[in-house]
Amino acid sequence: IDPNPEQLSSAEKEIEKVLRPQAFEDFTGQEKILENLRVFVKAARMRGEALDHVLLHGPPGLGKTTLSHIIANEMGAGIKITSGPVLDKPGDLAGLLTNLEEGDILFIDEIHRLSPLVEEYLYSAMEDYKIDIMLETGPNARSVQISLNPFTLIGATTRSGLLTAPLRARFGINARLQYYDAKLLTTIVLRSAEILRTPIAEEGAFEIARRSRGTPRIANALLRRTRDFAQIKGNGTIDIPIAKFALNALNVDEHGLDEMDNKILTTIIDKFKGGPVGLKTIATAVSEEEGTIEEVYEPFLIQEGYLMRTSRGRECTEIAYKHLGRIKNNGGPT
Ligand code: ADP
Repeated sequence: IDPNPEQLSSAEKEIEKVLRPQAFEDFTGQEKILENLRVFVKAARMRGEALDHVLLHGPPGLGKTTLSHIIANEMGAGIKITSGPVLDKPGDLAGLLTNLEEGDILFIDEIHRLSPLVEEYLYSAMEDYKIDIMLETGPNARSVQISLNPFTLIGATTRSGLLTAPLRARFGINARLQYYDAKLLTTIVLRSAEILRTPIAEEGAFEIARRSRGTPRIANALLRRTRDFAQIKGNGTIDIPIAKFALNALNVDEHGLDEMDNKILTTIIDKFKGGPVGLKTIATAVSEEEGTIEEVYEPFLIQEGYLMRTSRGRECTEIAYKHLGRIKNNGGPT
């Protein structure tokens, strides 16, 4: 199951919406971030001002879009949603910005993919709530300045390393979302099951949770598929045997690693003797972008102890060898 939202069908997107927490109190985990956001939101509301611009970073499926909707709800504001690759002309951005009401949120997903031209346009909008628009072309061309209603930009990115320094500097609030542990994900699965009216045993929820790669989007997707197995192969309730059966049928790795995770580990072990090996070399070998490996896959593999980042490159740990059923040769005589 791919954590990438681009891979979701429209029916799945609909269900995601239904499962999306609407208020701070429904949002599980990320406690430090929530604690701060509550303060910033409350203070901005008391002053009757728009919230400072917010940058949310972290791997896909951890709740960046969800948090943005919650912030809008808690601010009592509207929200407009767009994404970096969609906004390819300054005119598109101007159209969105001029339609924002006071205090509204503009959410730009994948903000690291904005074109430099659009990005530059955004600077004055963020800083002074003003934009310059070119009217007409040729000899009659002139630029007029338009004032915008004070608004909040929320930028989301999986690749914070790609953000330019001037853009980054214009966000007053900066938060990095973390992977969820199995306990938090269990809470999320139980909540989702309740909304979907699916009977589930706590142990069944835990089994799904611990195999979800620390990611709520994956946990919810696995829950929906497991529900089908419970209905057809079981008695409708998701218990441990059904959860195990379904997850195995879905080819979900015992530890929730996905295909690319396993490909990265296998490649390092089989082609590069377990490392250390450079990121660039790994990227070429698995045909994935360096940055994606570094910011989407690696953080989880490192957190779970499969991979180490050393000064000489990436190295697989004992845990990775064991996971893949390989034997580590510790440099002894061969
Ligand atoms: P992102 O924008 O980071 O890719 P989303 O906000 O779209 O992720 O979240 C993906 C799915 O996971 C949504 O359906 C959302 O309901 C669920 N989700 C994410 N974070 C949480 C959370 N902390 N608690 C409950 N559900 C969550």
